[in-house]
Amino acid sequence: MDTIVGNSYKTGDEVILGKHQAIPNWSSNWNSDMEQYVGKKATITKLSMVEPVTGYHLYLVDIDVGAWHWRGVNMTPVQVSAPAAVKHDGAFCTRCKNYVQYAEPSPTFRCWSCRH
Ligand SMILES: [Zn+2]
Repeated sequence: MDTIVGNSYKTGDEVILGKHQAIPNWSSNWNSDMEQYVGKKATITKLSMVEPVTGYHLYLVDIDVGAWHWRGVNMTPVQVSAPAAVKHDGAFCTRCKNYVQYAEPSPTFRCWSCRH
């Protein structure tokens, strides 16, 4: 069987909880009491079980005190450190072409030394 997205969470991982999708000829494994937690940040406390039919891993989380089984496939991982959010860590000077760290790239960027 192919690797299922959302089956690799571990205890302590932070996630945003999502609503379970409907599965044809199977249960969405959902309770209306779970709605209040959708979109909230939670920490996985343990892998509960593997859901029959779908193969989805079900996890217990902290914010509902382990009351419900949450499908990993519908969770969104929370990036503790977000390297993707750092788009630029420097820029090339348009005059001397030297690379300058911690500078905002722009078509007219000049380094500190070229400006003087
Ligand atoms: Zn320069």
